Amino acid sequence: MLRFENVGKTYPDGFQAVKSLSFEIKRGEFIVLIGPSGCGKTTTMKMINRLIPHTEGIITINGIDISKEDPVALRRNIGYVIQQVGLFPHFTIEENIALLPTLKGWNRPKKRQRVEELLHMIGLDPALFAKRYPKELSGGQQQRVGVARALAADPDIVLMDEPFGALDPITREQLQDELLSLQRKVNKTIVFVTHDMDEALKMGDRIAVMKDGTLLQFDTPDKLLKDPAHGFVEQFIGKKRIYQNPEFIPVADIMRNNPATVLSFRSPARALTLMRHRRTDTLLVEDENGQLIGIVSAYDLQARMEDIETIAEITVPVESVLDLSATAKDALIAIEQAKFGIVPVVGTDHKIAGVVTKGSLLTVFSKYWTESRGESVL
Ligand code: ADP
Ligand code: MG
Repeated sequence: MLRFENVGKTYPDGFQAVKSLSFEIKRGEFIVLIGPSGCGKTTTMKMINRLIPHTEGIITINGIDISKEDPVALRRNIGYVIQQVGLFPHFTIEENIALLPTLKGWNRPKKRQRVEELLHMIGLDPALFAKRYPKELSGGQQQRVGVARALAADPDIVLMDEPFGALDPITREQLQDELLSLQRKVNKTIVFVTHDMDEALKMGDRIAVMKDGTLLQFDTPDKLLKDPAHGFVEQFIGKKRIYQNPEFIPVADIMRNNPATVLSFRSPARALTLMRHRRTDTLLVEDENGQLIGIVSAYDLQARMEDIETIAEITVPVESVLDLSATAKDALIAIEQAKFGIVPVVGTDHKIAGVVTKGSLLTVFSKYWTESRGESVL
Protein backbone atom coordinates (compact mmCIF):
# COMPACT_ATOMS: atom_id res chain seq x y z
CA MET A 1 0.00 0.00 0.00
CA LEU A 2 2.96 2.32 0.67
CA ARG A 3 5.70 2.26 -1.90
CA PHE A 4 9.07 4.04 -2.21
CA GLU A 5 10.76 3.99 -5.59
CA ASN A 6 14.32 5.35 -5.62
CA VAL A 7 13.28 8.04 -3.19
CA GLY A 8 15.89 10.57 -2.13
CA LYS A 9 16.10 13.78 -0.19
CA THR A 10 18.68 16.43 -0.89
CA TYR A 11 18.34 19.37 1.49
CA PRO A 12 18.64 22.91 0.09
CA ASP A 13 22.22 23.12 1.39
CA GLY A 14 23.08 20.18 -0.87
CA PHE A 15 23.22 17.54 1.88
CA GLN A 16 21.85 14.21 0.71
CA ALA A 17 20.06 12.86 3.78
CA VAL A 18 18.28 9.97 2.03
CA LYS A 19 19.60 8.15 -1.01
CA SER A 20 17.61 6.10 -3.46
CA LEU A 21 15.32 4.29 -1.04
CA SER A 22 13.12 1.56 -2.50
CA PHE A 23 10.71 -0.63 -0.54
CA GLU A 24 7.10 -1.61 -0.28
CA ILE A 25 4.93 -1.90 2.80
CA LYS A 26 1.76 -3.98 2.90
CA ARG A 27 -1.50 -2.96 4.53
CA GLY A 28 -1.54 -3.76 8.24
CA GLU A 29 2.21 -4.24 8.51
CA PHE A 30 4.14 -2.93 11.49
CA ILE A 31 7.39 -1.61 10.05
CA VAL A 32 10.30 -0.38 12.14
CA LEU A 33 12.92 2.01 10.76
CA ILE A 34 16.14 1.77 12.71
CA GLY A 35 19.62 3.18 12.44
CA PRO A 36 22.06 5.48 14.20
CA SER A 37 21.26 9.11 14.84
CA GLY A 38 21.34 11.19 11.67
CA CYS A 39 20.91 8.26 9.26
CA GLY A 40 17.72 9.72 7.80
CA LYS A 41 14.91 8.04 9.73
CA THR A 42 12.94 11.19 10.52
CA THR A 43 13.49 12.52 7.01
CA THR A 44 12.14 9.26 5.55
CA MET A 45 9.14 9.41 7.84
CA LYS A 46 8.30 13.02 7.11
CA MET A 47 8.48 12.45 3.38
CA ILE A 48 5.53 10.06 3.75
CA ASN A 49 3.21 12.80 5.00
CA ARG A 50 4.99 15.52 3.02
CA LEU A 51 6.14 17.45 6.06
CA ILE A 52 9.38 17.20 4.10
CA PRO A 53 9.10 17.11 0.30
CA HIS A 54 11.20 14.39 -1.32
CA THR A 55 13.52 15.55 -4.07
CA GLU A 56 14.05 12.30 -5.98
CA GLY A 57 11.93 9.28 -6.85
CA ILE A 58 8.28 8.47 -6.31
CA ILE A 59 6.24 7.73 -3.19
CA THR A 60 2.83 6.17 -3.71
CA ILE A 61 0.07 5.30 -1.28
CA ASN A 62 -2.43 2.79 -2.68
CA GLY A 63 -0.95 3.45 -6.09
CA ILE A 64 -1.42 7.22 -5.93
CA ASP A 65 1.61 9.49 -6.24
CA ILE A 66 1.56 11.58 -3.04
CA SER A 67 3.25 14.54 -4.71
CA LYS A 68 0.06 14.96 -6.74
CA GLU A 69 -2.15 15.00 -3.65
CA ASP A 70 -3.16 17.94 -1.51
CA PRO A 71 -0.72 17.77 1.43
CA VAL A 72 -3.34 18.80 3.97
CA ALA A 73 -5.78 16.13 2.84
CA LEU A 74 -2.92 13.62 2.77
CA ARG A 75 -1.94 14.40 6.35
CA ARG A 76 -5.49 13.96 7.58
CA ASN A 77 -5.29 10.37 6.53
CA ILE A 78 -1.94 9.76 8.18
CA GLY A 79 -1.60 9.71 11.96
CA TYR A 80 1.63 11.08 13.38
CA VAL A 81 3.16 10.54 16.81
CA ILE A 82 6.44 12.11 17.90
CA GLN A 83 8.69 11.71 20.91
CA GLN A 84 7.90 15.15 22.33
CA VAL A 85 4.22 14.09 22.17
CA GLY A 86 3.26 17.53 20.87
CA LEU A 87 0.00 17.84 22.74
CA PHE A 88 -1.35 21.38 22.80
CA PRO A 89 -0.94 22.60 26.40
CA HIS A 90 -4.01 24.86 26.37
CA PHE A 91 -6.29 22.19 24.94
CA THR A 92 -7.86 19.56 27.17
CA ILE A 93 -7.12 15.89 26.49
CA GLU A 94 -10.49 15.62 24.80
CA GLU A 95 -9.77 18.61 22.55
CA ASN A 96 -6.32 17.32 21.75
CA ILE A 97 -7.61 13.92 20.66
CA ALA A 98 -10.47 15.48 18.68
CA LEU A 99 -8.14 17.75 16.73
CA LEU A 100 -8.29 16.01 13.36
CA PRO A 101 -11.95 15.00 13.65
CA THR A 102 -12.67 18.71 14.27
CA LEU A 103 -10.69 19.65 11.17
CA LYS A 104 -12.57 16.99 9.27
CA GLY A 105 -15.84 18.62 10.40
CA TRP A 106 -17.22 15.78 12.50
CA ASN A 107 -20.22 16.76 14.64
CA ARG A 108 -19.99 17.02 18.40
CA PRO A 109 -21.66 13.73 19.42
CA LYS A 110 -19.57 11.79 16.92
CA LYS A 111 -16.38 13.42 18.22
CA ARG A 112 -17.33 12.81 21.86
CA GLN A 113 -18.04 9.17 21.15
CA ARG A 114 -14.71 8.73 19.34
CA VAL A 115 -12.78 10.40 22.17
CA GLU A 116 -14.42 8.12 24.75
CA GLU A 117 -13.76 5.05 22.67
CA LEU A 118 -10.08 6.00 22.23
CA LEU A 119 -9.55 6.87 25.89
CA HIS A 120 -10.94 3.45 26.82
CA MET A 121 -8.70 1.89 24.22
CA ILE A 122 -5.57 3.44 25.75
CA GLY A 123 -6.66 2.61 29.28
CA LEU A 124 -7.55 6.10 30.53
CA ASP A 125 -10.97 6.61 32.14
CA PRO A 126 -12.76 9.37 30.14
CA ALA A 127 -14.57 10.57 33.27
CA LEU A 128 -11.20 11.28 34.85
CA PHE A 129 -9.06 12.35 31.94
CA ALA A 130 -11.17 13.96 29.20
CA LYS A 131 -11.24 17.39 30.81
CA ARG A 132 -7.69 17.45 32.10
CA TYR A 133 -4.84 19.39 30.53
CA PRO A 134 -1.67 17.66 29.27
CA LYS A 135 0.50 18.87 32.17
CA GLU A 136 -1.86 17.10 34.57
CA LEU A 137 -0.82 13.74 33.07
CA SER A 138 2.32 11.65 33.50
CA GLY A 139 4.74 11.26 30.59
CA GLY A 140 3.40 7.80 29.81
CA GLN A 141 -0.22 8.99 29.92
CA GLN A 142 0.61 11.90 27.63
CA GLN A 143 2.25 9.55 25.17
CA ARG A 144 -0.85 7.32 25.23
CA VAL A 145 -2.92 10.40 24.39
CA GLY A 146 -0.50 11.10 21.56
CA VAL A 147 -1.20 7.63 20.17
CA ALA A 148 -4.96 8.10 20.62
CA ARG A 149 -4.80 11.42 18.78
CA ALA A 150 -2.97 9.82 15.88
CA LEU A 151 -5.71 7.19 15.60
CA ALA A 152 -8.62 9.63 16.09
CA ALA A 153 -9.63 10.18 12.50
CA ASP A 154 -9.12 6.50 11.67
CA PRO A 155 -6.15 7.01 9.35
CA ASP A 156 -4.81 4.31 7.04
CA ILE A 157 -1.22 4.87 8.08
CA VAL A 158 0.27 5.82 11.43
CA LEU A 159 3.79 7.25 11.60
CA MET A 160 5.54 7.10 14.97
CA ASP A 161 8.89 8.82 15.38
CA GLU A 162 10.69 7.46 18.47
CA PRO A 163 7.38 7.72 20.35
CA PHE A 164 8.62 6.04 23.52
CA GLY A 165 12.17 7.35 23.47
CA ALA A 166 11.72 9.77 26.37
CA LEU A 167 9.96 7.37 28.73
CA ASP A 168 11.46 5.41 31.60
CA PRO A 169 12.14 1.73 30.77
CA ILE A 170 9.13 0.33 32.63
CA THR A 171 6.59 2.75 31.18
CA ARG A 172 8.20 2.24 27.84
CA GLU A 173 7.78 -1.49 27.91
CA GLN A 174 4.20 -1.12 29.07
CA LEU A 175 3.41 1.21 26.16
CA GLN A 176 5.12 -1.13 23.71
CA ASP A 177 2.88 -3.96 24.89
CA GLU A 178 -0.20 -1.75 24.72
CA LEU A 179 0.65 -0.59 21.22
CA LEU A 180 1.10 -4.17 20.05
CA SER A 181 -2.25 -5.26 21.42
CA LEU A 182 -3.85 -2.09 20.05
CA GLN A 183 -2.36 -2.87 16.65
CA ARG A 184 -3.97 -6.31 16.75
CA LYS A 185 -7.34 -4.62 17.20
CA VAL A 186 -7.10 -1.68 14.79
CA ASN A 187 -4.75 -3.29 12.25
CA LYS A 188 -3.24 -0.06 10.93
CA THR A 189 -0.21 0.19 8.73
CA ILE A 190 2.41 1.49 11.14
CA VAL A 191 5.83 2.96 10.41
CA PHE A 192 7.70 3.21 13.69
CA VAL A 193 11.12 4.83 14.11
CA THR A 194 13.52 3.86 16.86
CA HIS A 195 17.25 3.63 17.45
CA ASP A 196 16.76 0.85 20.00
CA MET A 197 17.29 -2.61 18.53
CA ASP A 198 15.45 -4.37 21.36
CA GLU A 199 12.41 -2.24 20.66
CA ALA A 200 12.70 -2.90 16.93
CA LEU A 201 12.92 -6.68 17.38
CA LYS A 202 9.95 -6.66 19.72
CA MET A 203 7.65 -4.44 17.69
CA GLY A 204 8.39 -4.94 14.01
CA ASP A 205 6.83 -7.38 11.55
CA ARG A 206 9.74 -6.22 9.43
CA ILE A 207 12.70 -4.01 10.24
CA ALA A 208 14.44 -1.59 7.88
CA VAL A 209 18.03 -0.94 8.92
CA MET A 210 19.36 2.40 7.65
CA LYS A 211 22.82 3.94 7.61
CA ASP A 212 23.97 7.20 6.02
CA GLY A 213 20.70 7.65 4.16
CA THR A 214 20.64 4.19 2.60
CA LEU A 215 18.74 1.02 3.37
CA LEU A 216 21.04 -1.84 4.35
CA GLN A 217 18.51 -4.55 5.04
CA PHE A 218 14.73 -4.85 5.22
CA ASP A 219 13.72 -8.14 6.80
CA THR A 220 11.79 -9.88 9.53
CA PRO A 221 13.38 -9.87 13.01
CA ASP A 222 14.18 -13.59 12.65
CA LYS A 223 15.91 -13.11 9.34
CA LEU A 224 17.84 -10.12 10.66
CA LEU A 225 19.16 -12.08 13.63
CA LYS A 226 19.83 -15.24 11.67
CA ASP A 227 21.24 -13.72 8.57
CA PRO A 228 22.44 -10.13 8.87
CA ALA A 229 23.09 -9.03 5.27
CA HIS A 230 25.79 -6.57 6.16
CA GLY A 231 28.60 -6.24 8.69
CA PHE A 232 27.07 -3.06 10.01
CA VAL A 233 23.71 -4.76 10.56
CA GLU A 234 25.43 -7.50 12.53
CA GLN A 235 27.34 -4.93 14.53
CA PHE A 236 24.20 -2.89 15.11
CA ILE A 237 22.26 -5.92 16.30
CA GLY A 238 25.22 -6.76 18.46
CA LYS A 239 26.89 -10.12 18.91
CA LYS A 240 25.53 -10.15 22.42
CA ARG A 241 21.97 -10.12 21.19
CA ILE A 242 22.68 -12.86 18.69
CA TYR A 243 24.26 -15.00 21.40
CA GLN A 244 21.35 -14.31 23.71
CA ASN A 245 19.23 -15.94 21.04
CA PRO A 246 21.04 -19.26 20.49
CA GLU A 247 18.19 -20.42 18.25
CA PHE A 248 19.68 -18.12 15.62
CA ILE A 249 23.20 -19.57 15.70
CA PRO A 250 23.88 -22.45 13.32
CA VAL A 251 25.42 -25.41 15.10
CA ALA A 252 28.26 -25.31 12.55
CA ASP A 253 29.41 -22.03 14.13
CA ILE A 254 29.90 -23.55 17.55
CA MET A 255 30.95 -27.16 16.94
CA ARG A 256 34.50 -28.48 16.82
CA ASN A 257 35.35 -29.38 13.26
CA ASN A 258 37.95 -32.02 13.86
CA PRO A 259 36.50 -34.47 16.35
CA ALA A 260 38.59 -37.41 17.46
CA THR A 261 37.32 -40.36 15.44
CA VAL A 262 38.26 -44.01 15.15
CA LEU A 263 37.30 -46.77 12.72
CA SER A 264 35.11 -49.44 14.29
CA PHE A 265 37.42 -52.33 13.40
CA ARG A 266 40.42 -50.87 15.24
CA SER A 267 41.92 -52.58 18.27
CA PRO A 268 41.32 -51.29 21.80
CA ALA A 269 45.04 -50.49 22.10
CA ARG A 270 44.85 -48.29 19.03
CA ALA A 271 41.82 -46.48 20.42
CA LEU A 272 43.55 -45.88 23.73
CA THR A 273 46.59 -44.40 21.99
CA LEU A 274 44.30 -42.09 20.01
CA MET A 275 42.61 -40.93 23.19
CA ARG A 276 45.90 -40.11 24.86
CA HIS A 277 47.12 -38.36 21.76
CA ARG A 278 43.97 -36.26 21.40
CA ARG A 279 43.56 -35.75 25.16
CA THR A 280 39.99 -36.93 25.18
CA ASP A 281 38.06 -39.64 26.97
CA THR A 282 35.63 -40.32 24.14
CA LEU A 283 36.02 -41.13 20.46
CA LEU A 284 33.43 -41.00 17.71
CA VAL A 285 33.32 -44.39 16.03
CA GLU A 286 32.93 -44.37 12.26
CA ASP A 287 32.74 -46.89 9.44
CA GLU A 288 34.91 -46.86 6.31
CA ASN A 289 32.59 -44.31 4.71
CA GLY A 290 32.99 -41.84 7.55
CA GLN A 291 29.47 -42.50 8.78
CA LEU A 292 28.80 -42.28 12.48
CA ILE A 293 28.27 -45.57 14.31
CA GLY A 294 28.54 -44.54 17.93
CA ILE A 295 30.84 -43.53 20.75
CA VAL A 296 33.51 -45.39 22.63
CA SER A 297 34.49 -44.21 26.08
CA ALA A 298 37.79 -44.49 27.92
CA TYR A 299 35.98 -46.09 30.84
CA ASP A 300 34.56 -48.96 28.77
CA LEU A 301 37.80 -49.30 26.94
CA GLN A 302 39.85 -49.80 30.07
CA ALA A 303 37.29 -52.11 31.65
CA ARG A 304 37.01 -54.38 28.60
CA MET A 305 40.48 -54.03 27.10
CA GLU A 306 41.39 -57.68 27.70
CA ASP A 307 38.33 -59.43 26.31
CA ILE A 308 37.59 -57.61 23.04
CA GLU A 309 39.11 -57.77 19.57
CA THR A 310 37.80 -54.56 18.10
CA ILE A 311 36.17 -51.49 19.58
CA ALA A 312 32.98 -52.29 17.64
CA GLU A 313 32.11 -54.59 20.57
CA ILE A 314 32.00 -51.74 23.09
CA THR A 315 30.71 -48.99 20.81
CA VAL A 316 27.61 -47.37 22.25
CA PRO A 317 25.04 -46.02 19.80
CA VAL A 318 24.29 -42.31 20.31
CA GLU A 319 20.78 -41.12 21.05
CA SER A 320 21.48 -37.44 20.62
CA VAL A 321 22.89 -36.56 17.24
CA LEU A 322 22.45 -33.21 15.52
CA ASP A 323 22.48 -32.53 11.83
CA LEU A 324 23.86 -29.39 10.25
CA SER A 325 20.48 -27.65 10.19
CA ALA A 326 20.47 -27.64 14.01
CA THR A 327 21.09 -24.51 16.07
CA ALA A 328 23.13 -23.72 19.16
CA LYS A 329 19.90 -23.93 21.12
CA ASP A 330 19.35 -27.51 19.94
CA ALA A 331 22.93 -28.21 21.01
CA LEU A 332 22.35 -26.78 24.49
CA ILE A 333 19.32 -29.03 24.90
CA ALA A 334 20.97 -32.11 23.40
CA ILE A 335 24.08 -31.81 25.56
CA GLU A 336 21.97 -32.07 28.70
CA GLN A 337 20.81 -35.50 27.61
CA ALA A 338 24.07 -36.67 26.10
CA LYS A 339 25.44 -39.70 27.89
CA PHE A 340 29.12 -38.83 27.46
CA GLY A 341 28.71 -35.05 27.50
CA ILE A 342 29.27 -34.81 23.76
CA VAL A 343 26.90 -34.48 20.82
CA PRO A 344 28.10 -35.56 17.36
CA VAL A 345 27.02 -33.43 14.42
CA VAL A 346 26.46 -35.23 11.12
CA GLY A 347 26.15 -33.95 7.59
CA THR A 348 24.65 -35.62 4.56
CA ASP A 349 24.72 -39.45 4.56
CA HIS A 350 25.20 -39.41 8.33
CA LYS A 351 28.87 -38.54 7.86
CA ILE A 352 30.60 -37.02 10.86
CA ALA A 353 30.88 -33.24 10.49
CA GLY A 354 31.83 -32.16 13.98
CA VAL A 355 31.17 -32.47 17.66
CA VAL A 356 29.69 -30.27 20.34
CA THR A 357 31.05 -30.69 23.84
CA LYS A 358 30.21 -28.93 27.09
CA GLY A 359 33.64 -27.35 26.87
CA SER A 360 33.13 -26.01 23.34
CA LEU A 361 29.74 -24.52 24.26
CA LEU A 362 31.19 -22.83 27.31
CA THR A 363 34.13 -21.44 25.36
CA VAL A 364 31.87 -20.00 22.66
CA PHE A 365 29.31 -18.45 24.95
CA SER A 366 31.70 -17.04 27.52
CA LYS A 367 33.83 -15.56 24.73
CA TYR A 368 30.91 -13.68 23.26
CA TRP A 369 29.54 -12.64 26.61
CA THR A 370 32.90 -11.09 27.42
CA GLU A 371 33.38 -9.52 24.01
CA SER A 372 29.96 -7.92 23.96
CA ARG A 373 30.22 -6.28 27.35
CA GLY A 374 29.72 -2.54 27.02
CA GLU A 375 29.34 -2.88 23.29
CA SER A 376 27.64 -0.01 21.52
CA VAL A 377 27.79 1.37 18.03
CA LEU A 378 25.73 4.48 18.67
P1 ADP B 1 17.51 10.64 12.12
O1 ADP B 1 16.06 10.86 12.32
O2 ADP B 1 17.83 9.30 11.56
O3 ADP B 1 18.31 10.91 13.34
P2 ADP B 1 17.28 12.85 10.25
O4 ADP B 1 16.39 12.28 9.20
O5 ADP B 1 16.66 13.79 11.21
O6 ADP B 1 18.03 11.67 11.00
O7 ADP B 1 18.50 13.59 9.55
C1 ADP B 1 19.27 12.98 8.55
C2 ADP B 1 20.42 13.88 8.16
O8 ADP B 1 19.93 15.03 7.47
C3 ADP B 1 21.22 14.38 9.33
O9 ADP B 1 22.58 14.33 9.00
C4 ADP B 1 20.77 15.83 9.49
O10 ADP B 1 21.78 16.63 10.01
C5 ADP B 1 20.42 16.20 8.08
N1 ADP B 1 19.37 17.23 8.02
C6 ADP B 1 18.17 17.22 8.64
N2 ADP B 1 17.46 18.32 8.36
C7 ADP B 1 18.24 19.06 7.54
C8 ADP B 1 18.08 20.33 6.89
N3 ADP B 1 16.96 21.04 7.02
N4 ADP B 1 19.10 20.78 6.12
C9 ADP B 1 20.23 20.05 5.97
N5 ADP B 1 20.44 18.85 6.54
C10 ADP B 1 19.46 18.36 7.32
MG1 MG C 1 15.00 11.41 14.06
